Amino acid sequence: MRAVYVEKPHSFEVKDMPDPRPGPDEVLVRVKACSFCGSDIHLIEGKMPGVVYPLIPGHEWTGEVVSAGERVDEFAPGDRVATESHAGCGRCRNCVRGFYTICENYGRRPIHRQVGMTTNGGFSQFCAVPVKLLHRLPDAMSFTAGTLMTTAGTAVVGLERCGVETGDRVLVYGAGAVGLLTMQFARFLGAGEVCIVDTVASRLETAKKLGAEITVHAGVEELDTVLSERGWKGGPDLTVEAAGVPALQAECIRRVRRGGRVLLLGITGGEEPPAPLNRLSLDQITIYGIRGEGDFSVERAIRAYESGRIDSAPINTHTFPLEEFRHGFEVFGGKKDDAIKVVLEC
Ligand SMILES: [Zn+2]
Ligand SMILES: [Zn+2]
Repeated sequence: MRAVYVEKPHSFEVKDMPDPRPGPDEVLVRVKACSFCGSDIHLIEGKMPGVVYPLIPGHEWTGEVVSAGERVDEFAPGDRVATESHAGCGRCRNCVRGFYTICENYGRRPIHRQVGMTTNGGFSQFCAVPVKLLHRLPDAMSFTAGTLMTTAGTAVVGLERCGVETGDRVLVYGAGAVGLLTMQFARFLGAGEVCIVDTVASRLETAKKLGAEITVHAGVEELDTVLSERGWKGGPDLTVEAAGVPALQAECIRRVRRGGRVLLLGITGGEEPPAPLNRLSLDQITIYGIRGEGDFSVERAIRAYESGRIDSAPINTHTFPLEEFRHGFEVFGGKKDDAIKVVLEC
């Protein structure tokens, strides 16, 4: 099969590799589409903690079942599937409670695997994964749209965990895929108004198309002015960091109203921001952090998508063939040509 082989940080190529064989609890999938994620950039640059090189990256992908291991009866050849990437050990206290993305045995093979991070992922023609990672793709959902369900699962589990309340005013930093999905799911879950902030004007246009009540062009518009004009006295009820920028994590704590909640979804690649932690006790602020999906949230994201109230089309801006991995990586990483999500057809 053809696959993207990352030998070590900064060193990768598309090449022939042996086809994977599914184990007894695994499913062999013919990958159809695989999307770039911000953490793939960290992986290529050697800044993603826990990555085991060499490997085939890719953890947001969809495909068609080719064959299944002897203990799998959930899927049959031809089934269309979406995936999540964290195959927790299933027996540590976090896994048992549904938080398998923070498995206590992370990286301990073979009992734990994160597909595309510690074992081979979806930037390839075939991938063999534990059956518990797969979700059935609805007929109406394209393989490309399905690649967003992993990210959607992150938004869903994060918002559920910090509890969106009816009429909440939600401030989201970052109008990339995570931010745009978080904005939509916050509204889906009952938020009153969502304000989304970004430095890229075209992304804010997309946010408006997808239903954002307020957009703020950072560096051009003054956030305080816009929010006070909208009557957001005291600040947002919930602030969300969805850009993976350390300074914005601190900004989320600074901006939220007294008694509010902060949700950190972005993965920052290591730096620690100076954060105003005194507000946590003084103003009784609660911070929630979420790593990836978890708690079977990808399944709920797919169902919400089926309601027709979540849209992925404007987020998947670019598609290239697998052979053009390097080009896709540059377009995605450089946000070239108004790119948000870049998908490779495998
Ligand atoms: Zn991701
Ligand atoms: Zn575990």
